[in-house]
Amino acid sequence: MNKSSALNIPSDVSEIKVQNFINGQWCPPTTNKYMSSWNPATGQKSYAIPDSSSADVDNAVRAAKSAFPVWSSTLPEERAAILNRIADLIDQYGDKLAVIESQDQGKTVFSARTADMPLCSGYFRQFARCAVEGFEETKSQMNAPCTPVAVTQVENSVLQSTTQHVPSGVAALITPWNFPMLMVCEKLAPCIAVGNTCVVKPTEITSATPYLLTLILQAAGLPNGVANFVFGTGVNAGEPLVKHKDVRLVSFTGGCVTGAKIGSMAGGLLKRVSLELGGKNPSVVFNDCNLEHAVATHIRAAFQNQGEICLCASRQYVQRDIYDKFVKMFREMTTKEVRVGNPGDSKTYYGPMVSQQHMEKVLTYIRLAQQEGAKVEFLVNPSDPAVKNVANDGRLTISGMEGGYYIAPTLITGIKQNSRVMQEEIFGPVVCILPFDTEEDAVMLANDTQYGLGSSVFTQDKARLDRVTKQLNSGSVWGNSWMNWDDNMPFGGLGCSGTSREHGPWSLEFYTETKAIYSLV
Ligand code: NAD
Repeated sequence: MNKSSALNIPSDVSEIKVQNFINGQWCPPTTNKYMSSWNPATGQKSYAIPDSSSADVDNAVRAAKSAFPVWSSTLPEERAAILNRIADLIDQYGDKLAVIESQDQGKTVFSARTADMPLCSGYFRQFARCAVEGFEETKSQMNAPCTPVAVTQVENSVLQSTTQHVPSGVAALITPWNFPMLMVCEKLAPCIAVGNTCVVKPTEITSATPYLLTLILQAAGLPNGVANFVFGTGVNAGEPLVKHKDVRLVSFTGGCVTGAKIGSMAGGLLKRVSLELGGKNPSVVFNDCNLEHAVATHIRAAFQNQGEICLCASRQYVQRDIYDKFVKMFREMTTKEVRVGNPGDSKTYYGPMVSQQHMEKVLTYIRLAQQEGAKVEFLVNPSDPAVKNVANDGRLTISGMEGGYYIAPTLITGIKQNSRVMQEEIFGPVVCILPFDTEEDAVMLANDTQYGLGSSVFTQDKARLDRVTKQLNSGSVWGNSWMNWDDNMPFGGLGCSGTSREHGPWSLEFYTETKAIYSLV
């Protein structure tokens, strides 16, 4: 089935009318209240987002609950076929979706088209395969009786032990704004592949592409009620969803403070919960590294997606004897290559911050570093014609987009390890680079954080690479690289970065209940 010709993906985000998607129908919120969204590139109002309430959540959970018996017993091959159609439609409409994603979030159209959209369709294809291939179920067989607690003994029988993974029921999927559509797809694909139904609560800050995804789900033939979307705030829509009695599991990606709150709400109600949270990620650069490669990678790790990636390396530690050289190269390369401006322009490296509020938060940290006496540099090419003004705190005025939320690539040196700037997640284009002397110092500084999401090590000494990667406390560690991806590897964090692992088999594990079946046969 291909109803794609009917899909109406506009070319401008302001034309989108976001509605809740419940039981296959698009509907206004029962409150009839809407919130405004702003285009971050221009600072102009763009579209309206439903301000949904617990009544909408209840309708959505009811739809998911009644769709569960049929969907969970639908043949895996049928589920997989629908997931593959979703993937095909994302690919077909990827260019259009990327434009909307950029206008809503501020990321460049280029990165939305070449990174986010292929990853979105990739998740649906990967979990379509998993739906069919299923799990490596554990099977073992022993002569009975096998344990001292066996109460019944049957002569000549054997005890067969097997595991079975079964769908859990209705899932709540709650997502953040830095990868608006990708974060939804990352959760939705495994969730429905294994036979769950769900209610998605995308962020209220970037709701446009999650809404457009509902058009794709329906065009792909996903049965009514399998995936329901309720748009609105965390307090009005997110909390009632987490607390809803018929929601069995909660998958949340977002900030540490919200994660702690959701963890305690869900845990208190004995729901299964997955928390994927923020980071303050270190990178350690030894003097024997390939310097040019290291600097180029660290620029990407600092500024890709405006620095709005949970894995951005915002604390970079460089061995003292190459420190000055590293910083000089970092400064020169960034000034030359990192152009900030119109996210629709193919020459732009990064665009505006997602919102005025988030821009203010990032600027507050820059001002704090200045007040603390650190050296703060704004790495803007002085001959870039697009930049009209660089304010004292790094806010940029871009020609023709004066109301946009732009911040210069910001390099901070001479800051103390215990500064809030070094300890708290800033989530913007702000990087701190500090020197270290010994391997022990490097590991100690890198691990001196409440977070533990990602980290990197750069050295050509294989033994040291092996030692240090093993000593860094984070869910993912990269050697001589940053954010290389393998969808079959676990993803998640330690401490304030989260409590769980997702992706590949770990997602399948999270979205199912594992039963142990013992049969005397
Ligand atoms: P956030 O915590 O403010 O919001 C995330 C989502 O939670 C939104 O949909 C929001 O409406 C909802 N929410 C807020 N309060 C809620 C409540 N009380 N109950 C239920 N839902 C509630 O995060 P954000 O600002 O949207 O996203 C940025 C954060 O996400 C950063 O910390 C970033 O590092 C993190 N992040 C982590 C990962 C990861 O995989 N670890 C990926 C992307 C982003």
